[in-house]
Amino acid sequence: MQTEQKNQLEEKDEKYLWHSMKKYNPSTMVVKSGQGAWITDTEGNKYLDGMSGLWSVNVGYGRKELAEAAYEQLQELPFYPLTQSHLPAIKLGEKLNEWLGDEYVIFFSNSGSEANEVAFKIARQYHQQNGDHGRYKIISRYRSYHGSSMAALSATGQAQRKYKYEPLAQGFLHVTPPDSYRFPDYHTAKSFSKACAEEIDRTMKWELSNTIAAVILEPIITGGGVLIADEDYMKQVKGICEENGALLICDEVICGFGRTGKAFGFMNYDVKPDIITMAKGLTSSYLPLSATAVKREIYEAFKGTDDYEHFRHINTFGGNPAACAVALKNLEIIERENLIEQSSRLGIRLLSELAELNSHPNVGDIRGKGLLIGVELVEDKESKKPLELKKVNEMIAACKAKGLIIGKNGDTVEGYNNVLTLAPPLSMTEDEFTFLVRVFKEVIHSL
Ligand code: PMP
Repeated sequence: MQTEQKNQLEEKDEKYLWHSMKKYNPSTMVVKSGQGAWITDTEGNKYLDGMSGLWSVNVGYGRKELAEAAYEQLQELPFYPLTQSHLPAIKLGEKLNEWLGDEYVIFFSNSGSEANEVAFKIARQYHQQNGDHGRYKIISRYRSYHGSSMAALSATGQAQRKYKYEPLAQGFLHVTPPDSYRFPDYHTAKSFSKACAEEIDRTMKWELSNTIAAVILEPIITGGGVLIADEDYMKQVKGICEENGALLICDEVICGFGRTGKAFGFMNYDVKPDIITMAKGLTSSYLPLSATAVKREIYEAFKGTDDYEHFRHINTFGGNPAACAVALKNLEIIERENLIEQSSRLGIRLLSELAELNSHPNVGDIRGKGLLIGVELVEDKESKKPLELKKVNEMIAACKAKGLIIGKNGDTVEGYNNVLTLAPPLSMTEDEFTFLVRVFKEVIHSL
């Protein structure tokens, strides 16, 4: 009976829904419910969600408080556009300033892609407002992901995702990402990271510094395979931006809201970005909401008298009252349950638990910060040749068969997805932690 129902659902799914990345995920799991770190499919199978959905359900599933926050706000005021204002948006703007620890003005949208689009438009217009009319180019890193809409995709440094959708938006340049595992023999991880920062400076000079509007980066490249730069890299890049008159945009869509063991990823590196984009963990993905936080000085440049000095960007749903109410409650839960501190603590424990896997011949590198972990698999440690996709997929299937969902990421430009990723809910319990570690180790040992 259950199999019959499953077949029917799969048939309807195939008939009516167009999923992203279908080729890479040939079998569809129809998920019915979630509780804590666990999801349950329509057949009653339970899985520990080691990826928090899309690195995003930071407080875990089944939080009644979040449902109630949405319910109450939907009754009070379901919608009003932010061309005017409403209470949940004002409260959330204030709260985000507290979290950011500095004065930022918040522009709300619906998705990470949109938050980045807004950041690019603000950066370009800001320079125009200052009479710096030639600045429009945006620099990002290869292997980075910044979204699927045209400009966010243009900033994305993964050619496979762009192929067939070109021509994209103009004025986007890419530089080498700081990879602490793969770098030329004559470098150390630290010197390579510095060389990568210097490449940004050189690119700016080659392109003419006065044409560069901004650099966008994730504090840790996530989807490109969990690439963690040397601790000085972000400061070096910020310094280079300042010297060349460009803004630094930090994409905190995954790294934000405790994922890396700090409120925001950039806080690991003692820098203050000019613009910060955020989404996913802002509501723990219970409702769609994103934000672009902009340093007050930048906002001030838009306060002219000329009508054309406004930021002429409108979206209907951005800052929806119910989504803002859910975000406020979500931040309250993260604070109340000390989930940022827990992410840091569990991340350190997870890395130390996984360290024994370093002796496995196919484990090239294990790295992470907070509950954002990557395990890079190779054919052998000498050549560092990425483990073939078929075997990586077998690992993922083996984890799933034992009740654990994990992710795979990597250098998609090369077609490799050889970095297994773990980004469980920050609220996971001790038992869930033990389960994740046990299953993951068993599966790696079986390779
Ligand atoms: N930036 C980063 C770093 C992301 O990981 C993502 C989504 N995975 C985005 C931007 C785009 O966010 P969205 O899918 O909400 O548009």
